[in-house]
Amino acid sequence: LTMTLNFVKPVRIGSGYRVLSIKMASHIVGYPRMGPKRELKFALESFWDKKSSAEDLQKVAADLRSSIWKQMADAGIKYIPSNTFSYYDQVLDTATMLGAVPPRYNFAGGEIGFDTYFSMARGNASVPAMEMTKWFDTNYHYIVPELGPEVNFSYASHKAVNEYKEAKELGVDTVPVLVGPVTFLLLSKPAKGVEKTFPLLSLLDKILPVYKEVIGELKAAGASWIQFDEPTLVLDLESHQLEAFTKAYSELESTLSGLNVIVETYFADIPAETYKILTALKGVTGFGFDLVRGAKTLDLIKGGFPSGKYLFAGVVDGRNIWANDLAASLSTLQSLEGIVGKDKLVVSTSCSLLHTAVDLVNEPKLDKEIKSWLAFAAQKVVEVNALAKALAGEKDEAFFSENAAAQASRKSSPRVTNEAVQKAAAALRGSDHRRATTVSARLDAQQKKLNLPVLPTTTIGSFPQTLELRRVRREYKAKKISEDDYVKAIKEEISKVVKLQEELDIDVLVHGEPERNDMVEYFGEQLSGFAFTANGWVQSYGSRCVKPPIIYGDVSRPNPMTVFWSQTAQSMTKRPMKGMLTGPVTILNWSFVRNDQPRFETCYQIALAIKDEVEDLEKAGINVIQIDEAALREGLPLRKAEHAFYLDWAVHSFRITNVGVQDTTQIHTHMCYSNFNDIIHSIIDMDADVITIENSRSDEKLLSVFREGVKYGAGIGPGVYDIHSPRIPSTEEIADRINKMLAVLDTNILWVNPDCGLKTRKYAEVKPALENMVSAAKLIRTQL
Ligand code: GLN
Ligand code: ZN
Repeated sequence: LTMTLNFVKPVRIGSGYRVLSIKMASHIVGYPRMGPKRELKFALESFWDKKSSAEDLQKVAADLRSSIWKQMADAGIKYIPSNTFSYYDQVLDTATMLGAVPPRYNFAGGEIGFDTYFSMARGNASVPAMEMTKWFDTNYHYIVPELGPEVNFSYASHKAVNEYKEAKELGVDTVPVLVGPVTFLLLSKPAKGVEKTFPLLSLLDKILPVYKEVIGELKAAGASWIQFDEPTLVLDLESHQLEAFTKAYSELESTLSGLNVIVETYFADIPAETYKILTALKGVTGFGFDLVRGAKTLDLIKGGFPSGKYLFAGVVDGRNIWANDLAASLSTLQSLEGIVGKDKLVVSTSCSLLHTAVDLVNEPKLDKEIKSWLAFAAQKVVEVNALAKALAGEKDEAFFSENAAAQASRKSSPRVTNEAVQKAAAALRGSDHRRATTVSARLDAQQKKLNLPVLPTTTIGSFPQTLELRRVRREYKAKKISEDDYVKAIKEEISKVVKLQEELDIDVLVHGEPERNDMVEYFGEQLSGFAFTANGWVQSYGSRCVKPPIIYGDVSRPNPMTVFWSQTAQSMTKRPMKGMLTGPVTILNWSFVRNDQPRFETCYQIALAIKDEVEDLEKAGINVIQIDEAALREGLPLRKAEHAFYLDWAVHSFRITNVGVQDTTQIHTHMCYSNFNDIIHSIIDMDADVITIENSRSDEKLLSVFREGVKYGAGIGPGVYDIHSPRIPSTEEIADRINKMLAVLDTNILWVNPDCGLKTRKYAEVKPALENMVSAAKLIRTQL
């Protein structure tokens, strides 16, 4: 049947292929919303600043949606998603669809508008925003719905239906995408005042009627397919949670009849038990699986797939920027064809393309060879369709051989492989690296050298980054000012920061990081094996985007990276100056990582590069070195069974960086999150001399670990005030916090410091806050 389809040869337009008017079995889970040049970001921010109207914002959004639909239609995608656009976040969209507005926003019923929507997302003058948290193990953050028995659910946002109709009017018949009802509830939290143990799943009966209304309207509007995203299915679920899926979809079955239904999962393997329950769901037409992060799911499918159902095979990675290995994917797909049937196999992305960059077309400056190894969202759409065509017997030989050549060049390119690095990293595997002396003996040796008071004060590294400072860096990068002028300007800034800290009487100083734009990019730019994009933005939350570096090759450090600045800063003061580095795990977790070797291998390579830097700093007379591991916890796999393996190599990588220093060199690390109770033993195993951590927003939680008897012998500085807020904490308030800490921690291990770096704050906030912090420490010292 497929052979009778009208086949039109691909035409080359710009640097991407487009195939006109052909519909093979291809599907895209979701697409980035920001636009190729972050158009949505700028439109949102201008609207929020009252510089443009709601209509202006809606126009930008509609243009983005229409160009995305058109692009997918032109590429030949058959199952094109709608309602994956969002003004802020798809979970917030679902909460508004269900009318789940917390009472503090005074929602009076009816259709939810921008006012209420953005107040929920960002707060307003009188009410704070809803909480935001990480979307699974990605760097995307969603708004956490607040639910309780009192919520009056109502159909309060017709966005899904409106977007379906909008696409239809443009001539594109789409698959409307909804966050599934069970995932929605499992990602919610009990509202304030509602018992923490409130069974959120008990609300299923209340939200399903709204889902039914939405489904009914979509049907009436002409939809023939609908997609429910249920990514929570990849987690370790309890049996009552799994039962909720069966209950929800059998409850929806009659409403769904006449529609084809995809239940889409992503980000990890499906547990075997879940697979059974999922594939037994009635009323579901097809199942979507992530076959990139879920290689074991492939075995489950091979072990049995319900006959007559569609398999949406996610072989094109939505979490990375690498071009697909088309030949390998095609052979996977062909093996699946035998199991699910030729007409039931649909080529898809592993997850929404939201988590990758938008379009390679906007990277004219990127090295040509490296560029040939990459595929951003727009290119991935083309890959999906090329695979679908190949399956249907219409293989585009030119496209496949171009891809094969790029894969081969990536394998053999001398810029990818550095034998010496490979060998050194391989030698680390399976071995152990620990400083020879115990932490308490080291702390004694360090104290002799550093001679610090009890409750030593310090900061986390960065000081406020003024517009002027950003301008200097930008102009130096653009070669508009000379190296000499740049160095002079940065030196001046460091000297200002050093003087300020001396005036404040802080004990261990920092240089303030004025030369750094970003704690990962700064190191990536100086390491071999990293590439950078001009527009490779990925949404982090709301209008915020990040631009992760690309690690394409073996990592090495051609030259010292921070020694000059640290040495310069140390020469300005008699007090100890902290060397400031980003740790290997954080560099890894905040980059696009190569997929041609295991992540731990890349991490070990970075660790070796940082180790060289640590040792050079030590040689240059830096006695205290902080190695930030802000993102260590972020890399934790979704499934518990995989935690131990990850933590083992991540912590090992950290230890490798400083195993070579003398006892008298004090190694600090910093982490900016507080829920580390579950990984406390791994943190102790990092064997740093001092750890500073975020704490001020959740005092009790962190300290409870120690109250419950966890032995902690190293130095520890739980942040004494929140740097995320402009609020200036009083001396009494900070002193009170320190006293609370002293109730569970020994006096001789406690440090006094803010929660995190001060980069985003203003000097007018930083000065008084640090002043109060130091006086609080001094006050308590007199009381000991
Ligand atoms: N040293 C970094 C700074 O102060 C740490 C930032 C972070 O932990 N995110 O900016
Ligand atoms: Zn931090």
